[in-house]
Amino acid sequence: MSVDKENNHKKRQQRLKETVDARVEAAQDERGVLQVITGNGKGKTTAGFGTVARAVGHGKKAAVVQFIKGSWDCGERNLLEKFDVPFAVMATGFTWETQNREADIKAAEETWQQAKKFLADESIDIVLLDEITYMLSYDYLNVDEVIECLANRPAHQFVIATGRAAHRKLTDLADTVSEVKNIKHAFDAGVKAQVGFDY
Ligand code: ATP
Ligand code: MG
Repeated sequence: MSVDKENNHKKRQQRLKETVDARVEAAQDERGVLQVITGNGKGKTTAGFGTVARAVGHGKKAAVVQFIKGSWDCGERNLLEKFDVPFAVMATGFTWETQNREADIKAAEETWQQAKKFLADESIDIVLLDEITYMLSYDYLNVDEVIECLANRPAHQFVIATGRAAHRKLTDLADTVSEVKNIKHAFDAGVKAQVGFDY
């Protein structure tokens, strides 16, 4: 690198550092964050569980609610239950080709009652509400009730809500919203969902 280029690079990095330092200095609030991870790409549930693992690794108390239960076993559950993370899993296993709306609503409602307990529990630091967006888009749960519970949860409690097509009221309430974009997916090339990687 020429001396000029190197000096310019140094100056740019110095300015960047000043900007970042100022923003770090300004961000002093400490409170529970509501994060929504949505979009059509792969990685929403994985990211949710990644954050739960991060919290548990720091000795924090986590709880997981799965609004859609696959027919396969869940590797994250097998691991996290060893660390006493409670799981609430929707009993009937809602499917995409839902045949029985009444049964699905009942199961969603029962799972939500467990979620509500976690969201009211001061001792829980982080709650993962996996695939909850579908419960709202299918109108299985009342969006205003869900929003109210999230808004009234303990101030220190983190919540991660995942699923495609997040309801506007949920993203409005959220502090952090990430959209995972699908660039390509192995499934489209005929690769099936595989243990240890997809579940
Ligand atoms: P993951 O659980 O792998 O983080 P996800 O939570 O982002 O995925 P979901 O919409 O919940 O995605 O889908 C669950 C299952 O569908 C997973 O087995 C995942 O690998 C697969 N999947 C995710 N995105 C896609 C996609 N764009 N095309 C096909 N299959 C997908
Ligand atoms: Mg998912």
